[in-house]
Amino acid sequence: MTYLKQKPLFTLAIRDKCRLGKTLLKINARHGPPKMFLHTERMSGTRDLPVVHHNKYVCDLAPDHRFPMGKFPRVLHFLIKDQVVIDKQVWTPNLASEELLACVHTKEYLDNFINGKIEEKEQMRTGFPWSDGLVQRCRYETGGTVLTAEIALQRGLACSTAGGTHHAFPSYGAGFCLLNDLAVAAKHWMGKSTSRRKVLIVDLDVHQGDGTAYIFREEPDVFTFSVHCGKNFPVRKQQSDLDVSVEDGMEDKEYLAKVETHLPWLLKSFRPDLVLYDAGVDPHWEDELGRLRLTDQGLYQRDLYVIDTVVKSGTPVATVIGGGYSRDIDRLAIRHSIVHRAATQVWKQRGM
Ligand SMILES: [Zn+2]
Repeated sequence: MTYLKQKPLFTLAIRDKCRLGKTLLKINARHGPPKMFLHTERMSGTRDLPVVHHNKYVCDLAPDHRFPMGKFPRVLHFLIKDQVVIDKQVWTPNLASEELLACVHTKEYLDNFINGKIEEKEQMRTGFPWSDGLVQRCRYETGGTVLTAEIALQRGLACSTAGGTHHAFPSYGAGFCLLNDLAVAAKHWMGKSTSRRKVLIVDLDVHQGDGTAYIFREEPDVFTFSVHCGKNFPVRKQQSDLDVSVEDGMEDKEYLAKVETHLPWLLKSFRPDLVLYDAGVDPHWEDELGRLRLTDQGLYQRDLYVIDTVVKSGTPVATVIGGGYSRDIDRLAIRHSIVHRAATQVWKQRGM
């Protein structure tokens, strides 16, 4: 790998290069139509882009709380208002069961979290005061990501209106993340088959997906790719399989170039059976917690590029919205709907 020498503007670390090298030689065995249990109460009735949403993706928080909880229903609201999505496209996920969550999280943590036995210090680290509503919200959100992945495997592409809680570790939550939905979706699907299944997690939230990186640190069949702002949270980074750490203030063109440099060769060499895409909008210039300078157009180009490149490679892709922080909930919700708009364009252009 010569990347280390060629890219002075960012630091790049590739974990276990041998592993990646080996995968170049392996033939990717594609699976037939997957037999799956769909975590859904209602099946979608159209051939349009599947969108996964639940009205319980939200819970009550103090009005001055920093986390913009109100964004989740507004994302779907704007998609419907702008006629990007119609009601029939919307799939409803089930609550993630304890058994499902246990493929990633420890029994002790699940017992404490679900039953409200999380200590105050622990709650501070998550950024949320514990409530039963919070537990329900996180479990529906995780169920949503699992369903999105399952539909994507059938239809080629599907998008949730939540998800991307990548700072959650097996035994604790952190940074507004209580359950690691991406990890649960990946592990659950892989565990349902005796044949080998590989998952690529493309995490373009502005913060490193440290929980996900940790969970899959020794899992050769999950490749974690994170592009994040190096000076941003979390202070102590974990090691993803590929970390691209960018400087503060990066703008559209430079940022997109980073993604374009790596995604094609990752798809070709790792040859995933499924891609989970965290389309966090916190690299946006207006974001309260990001430190980059992407525009709406830049985010649209990014999402269009990622989704189209993955779809073009013949790999199913499921998207989650990831992080985004603003006091202006509607402005933020519209920003989060960029990924669904980009996915809709790919869906139509590729005749899916
Ligand atoms: Zn983030």
